[in-house]
Order: sequence, then C-alpha cells, then structure tokens
Amino acid sequence: SQAKVFDKDQKVTTTFKDVAGLAEAKQEVEEIVEFLKQPAKFTKLGGKIPKGALLVGPPGTGKTLLARAVAGEASVPFFSMSGSDFVEMFVGVGASRVRDLFKQAKEKAPCIIFIDEIDAIGRARGKNPNFGSNDERENTLNQLLTEMDGFDTNSGVIILAATNRADILDRALMRAGRFDRQIHVELPDLKERGEIFKVHLRPLKLGEDVKVEFLSKQTPGFSGADIANVCNEAALIAARRNRDAVTKQDFLDAVDRIIGGLEKKNKIIS
Ligand code: ATP
Repeated sequence: SQAKVFDKDQKVTTTFKDVAGLAEAKQEVEEIVEFLKQPAKFTKLGGKIPKGALLVGPPGTGKTLLARAVAGEASVPFFSMSGSDFVEMFVGVGASRVRDLFKQAKEKAPCIIFIDEIDAIGRARGKNPNFGSNDERENTLNQLLTEMDGFDTNSGVIILAATNRADILDRALMRAGRFDRQIHVELPDLKERGEIFKVHLRPLKLGEDVKVEFLSKQTPGFSGADIANVCNEAALIAARRNRDAVTKQDFLDAVDRIIGGLEKKNKIIS
C-alpha cells in the first residue's frame, strides 16, 4: 500500500509560547533543544546525548504540540508518524517505512523524529492472542529498536514518542539508550487552564463579559484540546447568533456542548 506513513515538516513555526502550562515538561524538553542547538557543548566533555524521550499523559494534553515546539525552538525539521498507521500493514511494509523514516531523518540531522501513539506498535510482544509471534506490528517494533540501537547518539537525531499507556509498552523500548527518559504531561489544573485559555482566546474577538478565570472554573477535567475546542466552538456559536463579539453565554453553551461530546465518548468506551 502507498498510504502516507510519515510527515516531514522542515519549517516548524510552533514554539514554547504556543504551549501553555506544562512548566515541568517544558523544562525537561528545554534540554533537548539545547542538545539540538549545540551538540558539541555536550559531547566535547564526553557526555552522551539521550536518543529519545517518551511523553506520557492523557489524550489532548499537548504531547504533540510540545514535541513540535522542541523542533520549532531548535529550528530543526520535524519528522512524524503515528503508531496507529502501522497496525494494518502488509508484511514487511511497516518495517521498511521505519527504515525509510530513519534514513531520511539522518540525512536531515539535526532533527526530531516524533512517534505518536507508540503503544500501537510498542505494546509488549506476545501479549495479543489474535496474532502469531510474527505479526507485522512486531516486525515494525523490532525494526524501530534496531534503528534506535543502530545510530550514534551524537548523530543529531532525537526521537520523541507519545503515549497515554506507558504501562502496556514493551520494556525493551525503555531500556538504556532507547526511550530512557519519561516526561509526564498531565491534565491542566485551574491556573494552567487559564493559561491555555489565554493562548486560544488570542485570535478571538471577545465581549467585555468574558473572563479567563470564570472560564477556567467552568472547565474542570478539560484537556488543552478540549479548551481549544471550547474557544473555537464559542466563536462559531457567536457567529451563528450574528454577534460582533464572542460573549460569556456563547462560551457557556460551547462548554455544555463539549461536555455533551465528552460524555458520549465515555459512554462508548465504557
Ligand atoms: P493525543 O494524545 O490525543 O495525540 P496530545 O497530547 O498529543 O493528544 P495535542 O495533539 O498536542 O495533544 O493537542 C491538541 C491541541 O490541543 C493542540 O494542537 C492545541 O491546540 C491544544 N492544546 C493541548 N494542550 C495544550 C497546551 N498545553 N497549551 C495550548 N494548547 C494546547
């Protein structure tokens, strides 16, 4: 199959300014930005630059955003793929795509490789009763491990991966010299939700009754992605109501709508 398997973004514009909250996670990836910008500073003292870090946290909390911002801050290309794109592949295809990805990335180093939903390929081996031990997912995972072991840490390629299920990952992925660092990306608290609202309110034309603190209080348990949705939905609702600005009531209705959507999603899951 010729399905698109990885994306290449040579000119990333996302920076840490676009990532609200996540102070600790940002601080941890800051070091990766430094590695990418000035590798010699670290390697001349004999240090080994880490090959990869695993971003762990619930859906919509900004893992992809943060990975992209690392590339943007370091001004390096961003190669990305999603583990879920590999599950339905013909024998040999997944592994060869992984090989291709690493080959192209090495040519463009320094750069970032980002693997979203790594659990789709990185589940512990031999745990799925529906597949034999030679299923394509496993071949893909083995190729990924081979690629990670096969390049020099100082080649300038850093691999970031994201998952919300670190518990089901094959231990081999977490071994030294692979994803030996975990960075936790959690749901935002009240104050962080305010910071995320500020980012996503920026492009909107707001009525005078819209207050960030009020919106943060109305949205406990919301992820950054949910908040981005609320802001966009509120703007669409306001437009439908032929308003000149987005009002508090539009936000309240948008919050209701998003909560409705979340409840539906939870019902399907449970
Ligand atoms: P998933 O696990 O579902 O892939 P994710 O953790 O990778 O989710 P993103 O795809 O990065 O989440 O987030 C989706 C969108 O939500 C972002 O593009 C951004 O608009 C918004 N968002 C999420 N977190 C934040 C944040 N901390 N600050 C600002 N915006 C955020």
